[in-house]
Amino acid sequence: MKKLGLLFLSLTVSSAVAAKDKFEYFFDETIQFDSSIHKPSDTLGYAIADWHIRPDQSLAFFKALDKSSDKVKVTQTGLSHEQRPLIAAFISSPENLAKLGTISADRKNLNFQNTPNVVYLGYSVHGNEASGANAAPLVAYRLAASQERWVQELLANNIVIIDPMLNPDGLDRFANWVNRYKGAQLVSDSDSIEHNEAWPAGRTNHYWFDLNRDWLLLQHPESRARVELFYNWRPTIVGDFHEMGTNSTYFFQPGVPSRQNPLTSDLNFELTNEIAKYHAKALDKLSVPYYSKESFDDFYYGKGSTFPDINGGIGILFEQASSRGHTQESINGEVTFPFAVRNQVATSFSTLKAAKELGSNLKDYQADFFKEQRIKAVKDTEQGVIFTSKDNGRLQEFLSILKQHQIEVSQLKNETTVEGKNYPAKDSYLVKYNQEQYGLIKTIFESRTEFEDNTFYDVSAWTMPHAFNLHYQILDSRKTASLFTEKVELKLGQLTDAENVVAYSYSANNLYSLAFTNKLLAAGLTVRLSRKSFELPVSAGNKTFSKGSLVVQVDNAEDKAILKNLWQSYAQARGMDLTGINTGFSQSGIDLGSPNMVNLKAPKPLLLIGNGVSSYEAGEAWFLLDKRLEIQTSMQPASDLANIDLSEYSHLIMVNGRYPKLDDAAKKKIEQWLNQGGALVASRSAVRWVIEHKLAPLELVKRDAKAPEGRPYSERQAAFTEQLIGGAIFETQLDLSHPLTFGIQKKSLPYTKASSQIIQPAKRDFITVAEYSDKPLLAGYASKENVDAIKNTAAVVALRKGRGSVIVFNDNPNFRGYWLGSARLFANTLFFSGAF
Ligand SMILES: [Zn+2]
Repeated sequence: MKKLGLLFLSLTVSSAVAAKDKFEYFFDETIQFDSSIHKPSDTLGYAIADWHIRPDQSLAFFKALDKSSDKVKVTQTGLSHEQRPLIAAFISSPENLAKLGTISADRKNLNFQNTPNVVYLGYSVHGNEASGANAAPLVAYRLAASQERWVQELLANNIVIIDPMLNPDGLDRFANWVNRYKGAQLVSDSDSIEHNEAWPAGRTNHYWFDLNRDWLLLQHPESRARVELFYNWRPTIVGDFHEMGTNSTYFFQPGVPSRQNPLTSDLNFELTNEIAKYHAKALDKLSVPYYSKESFDDFYYGKGSTFPDINGGIGILFEQASSRGHTQESINGEVTFPFAVRNQVATSFSTLKAAKELGSNLKDYQADFFKEQRIKAVKDTEQGVIFTSKDNGRLQEFLSILKQHQIEVSQLKNETTVEGKNYPAKDSYLVKYNQEQYGLIKTIFESRTEFEDNTFYDVSAWTMPHAFNLHYQILDSRKTASLFTEKVELKLGQLTDAENVVAYSYSANNLYSLAFTNKLLAAGLTVRLSRKSFELPVSAGNKTFSKGSLVVQVDNAEDKAILKNLWQSYAQARGMDLTGINTGFSQSGIDLGSPNMVNLKAPKPLLLIGNGVSSYEAGEAWFLLDKRLEIQTSMQPASDLANIDLSEYSHLIMVNGRYPKLDDAAKKKIEQWLNQGGALVASRSAVRWVIEHKLAPLELVKRDAKAPEGRPYSERQAAFTEQLIGGAIFETQLDLSHPLTFGIQKKSLPYTKASSQIIQPAKRDFITVAEYSDKPLLAGYASKENVDAIKNTAAVVALRKGRGSVIVFNDNPNFRGYWLGSARLFANTLFFSGAF
């Protein structure tokens, strides 16, 4: 079989120094290098691509390169979840490097004309697409050591930022996997273990999230550090280096023209296409086949190659056929790892060459972009957006994202009413569209349902106020002009104490009230959930506590001190009020000792993971429980269920996945545990398992296949994608009287749906917690047939089962970590599953 990259192994080399690094393979042989510059092999002891680089090795190399070269400055931008340094290597002329502070300040202020252009090359955001991370040291070395004249000119007028590992935790998992199974004889057999990673694969980060969807959402430290760097430097070009299937060739953008987000300009596409000619030339020289424009799109702004496009830069996606390991058979011959690395080096340099030669065009484009944003903003009939929520936790999370994206927000000074909805002072916020970040603001708030092309590489909608379940309203200029606003101030919780206190109460409205409850329970305090409202005297007269209020009994001074300490250290900064109560006897409603006051228990969940389970959705559940709710979360492989003592656990969580090992015996075991008080929480395809094993009296909708109409082959792709529900936003209606909805104020709950699974309306009373509404599509694409099929069907159902409960979510409530509106329902199951 033909070997792609065979040359690498059979080189005749002229110098022993070069031989160790095999530069002749990766670079043009004629390049002369400054011998005083630190080489990759000086750190590694071997040539790049002989083994997979680990993050610690990459870090050591870049630090040494910085030391040996006056053209390189390495800075740490943050830490990954697993505490690995995230770094950026600034490579430019020593003159430019001496002025980094002023250049950054100018660019932050969108003053581009008098600063060098910035090219940001980011590698391997997917950790198991490792050719990029392994190419990065070679790219940096050549820039620092090369005597080529064009490189000197490039560095005189540009700052190159190399981010050698966007996802070090995933890269580490993958490098250790493939290095562990590497033999002296490289094995190309795709079935060999080297090419088949264990669950969870290295693509994702520590919590199994796809960091290449998180540029907009900023749920993870890796993204937050990267986006901060982005706004400090406002790169002119961003190169985003990936790998695709082993049987592919090489892809570079532009992507599919009809699938570009309409907020991105045609000029952006044209410039990307101009730059593409440089990649074509570089790969032609290596006789590497490639393609562009036929796949991958620039629609969803949360990706590394699309995010720059709405921020004045040019984002470019690169996809190399993966060797996923050291060499692997493919329909195009063996794909070797050195071959993959070499191609990424080649397109890194073609990007840089384009940056050098198209520099003034790119500079003009970037400067004009922000002027045009202002013009577009002024012309827009929409002039701003107002939003509010009774959940300070969710609001603060949303405000934090806006702030990190350099979006100016103000707080409402006086209360106002917009289309019948009251927006209270202080708790309501205003974003005016007339800002440099106009485009980004539009994409955060827009809810488009019509598209030029109905095929999407990723989701078709991400409307953030829906994800955070906020009340919001788009405003015209008359309304924005009439609103008085002021600077945003963090709202602190208030403590209202009382004499001879017997209990304290706090509202469940704040998402973080659940984590607070968990801390109180863990400290041994008694916390009760009120199923009905009550009215009691407090220091300032009578106060009505709504259903869903949480009540903490304080029998002694010690409990009181624990409660106040936890409130001060945790709840106050999150805007939670705490109210002292000095009698259990109500003016109206239930008394504090009522049977409608349900004792809560600290949850002890078990999350099933492992082969067959979606690592994304398991990771999203884990992230919610561990990071937001601060619950100790046990995780065990689903295949081990027979050996697990379920009585140890309060909740069993089954997310999207196939559970082939969960047979009838497993079902019996789960049923027994349910009867004794366990709570089973299932989502997406796990719901199918629950229904098939008769743990819930529900039925899935059977979709009749469309009768064949003899359509031509050319319509095949379009027909296929029309059937998909690939990530659109739908409205559900909540039963707000159900205890699982306590803490949620709005009857309408937006929900992201990314599967065609539909549950029929439940044929029992009192069990439907959420159902899709009459006109459910809020944003994104879904065909009319799909929208019709979804309306009025069950979204969330909760049943008693013996002394326990079964709660099913037809769709994923925790999508990408930022869907805190629907995630609140999921979070409630951990605490309130015994309250209905
Ligand atoms: Zn990728």
